[in-house]
Amino acid sequence: MNIIDIITKKKNNQELSYEEIKYAIDNYVSGEIKDYQMSSLLMAIVINKMTDEETINLTKVMIESGETIDLSMINGVIVDKHSTGGVGDKTTLILAPLVASCGVKVAKMSGRGLGHTGGTIDKLESIKGFKTTLTNEEFINQINDIGLAIISQTKNIVPADKMLYALRDVTGTTESISLIASSIMSKKIAAGASIIVIDVKVGNGALMKTEEDARVLAKLMIKIGSHYDRKVVCVLSNMEEPLGFCVGNGLEVLETIESLKGNGPRDLNNLVLTLGSIMISLAKNISEEEAKKELIEKIKNNEALEKFKQFVLYQKGDINEIEIAKEKISIKSSHDGYIKSIDTFKLGEIARKLGAGRLTKNDVINYGVGFIIHKKVGEILFENEELLKLYTCNHDIIISEITDCFEISEKCPEKQNLIIDIIRL
Ligand code: URA
Repeated sequence: MNIIDIITKKKNNQELSYEEIKYAIDNYVSGEIKDYQMSSLLMAIVINKMTDEETINLTKVMIESGETIDLSMINGVIVDKHSTGGVGDKTTLILAPLVASCGVKVAKMSGRGLGHTGGTIDKLESIKGFKTTLTNEEFINQINDIGLAIISQTKNIVPADKMLYALRDVTGTTESISLIASSIMSKKIAAGASIIVIDVKVGNGALMKTEEDARVLAKLMIKIGSHYDRKVVCVLSNMEEPLGFCVGNGLEVLETIESLKGNGPRDLNNLVLTLGSIMISLAKNISEEEAKKELIEKIKNNEALEKFKQFVLYQKGDINEIEIAKEKISIKSSHDGYIKSIDTFKLGEIARKLGAGRLTKNDVINYGVGFIIHKKVGEILFENEELLKLYTCNHDIIISEITDCFEISEKCPEKQNLIIDIIRL
């Protein structure tokens, strides 16, 4: 067996066997297969796709590339949550402490930014000192002590995803149903939770641009979950505009804190409560209505915010030191009108170019850069009113590139639903 034959087979749109997939992944993790060869295979997979069987085998091989975490030492039901990625998506940062404050344990392995989308680990690292790598023992102890922990992929757990994810980020190979499903599900299964709720984003700011593709991805992840005896529920949510107002790592942590204080943007709160109600209802065997009431109460009585502070402290972060760029540029509207649409993909790419994401594998993130959007789809905007505040010291940024992302119309557009569907087995 050799990698060139495997690449050629996929290039010719043929199905790869378990052994071929294992050969490619294991030898990439060990360093025998180089980045340029794996990039070529990934691109062939993006173009020619994989069958469900190939995707299940890829997930299995990725899990086998490292250790899995045995959560049997933790009492109670353990839940996990993941997002397929969007722009301004800080849901996990709010949801994890909120659900934990209801007494349900959250064990989560997260990713970094991927393509134009942001990643939970990069956001957490904008908090000074925050440690995203824990040993398995530390991970389990922390969940037992405070009810939640969020870690990044490590050398020990799903190392294949850590490497493939970083490569996909910079080689235009993010938007593949099979690569997304195997990346997410390998992490979810290795991290051990029995209940997994996945936010499958749909729209121009998401990896899945159409509802049809998002449904295929959701069903595939549910299928992989049942293969491993895990309960997976997928929420299809709209990503035609950024979630909340803040985009950029440090800024998104600030918006998280505001949301936990009960002052969050409406769309973000709505999504958090929808996902959280499913997580709590499955874990406690109560109705989603009852679960939602519990979540709202934990925000009102400050317990969710206190849980977030405890979580940051446990992972050695200093909540008073969140990196935010000092320099701000105000971007104003040149005319009156309603926001008809937002090119969310392009905004995500602008954030990435500012330094909030990576363009090459070795890029260092600038945690402080980003922007705060003041107007969302359907809102009215007057000439000279501030549309967006840009946080950057990068003066190369072309303001018109940002304003071009906002389509303004005379008529008030119809607002799309945030929650598109909930898919269960
Ligand atoms: N999140 C992941 O962990 N992997 C992907 O491929 C996309 C989103």
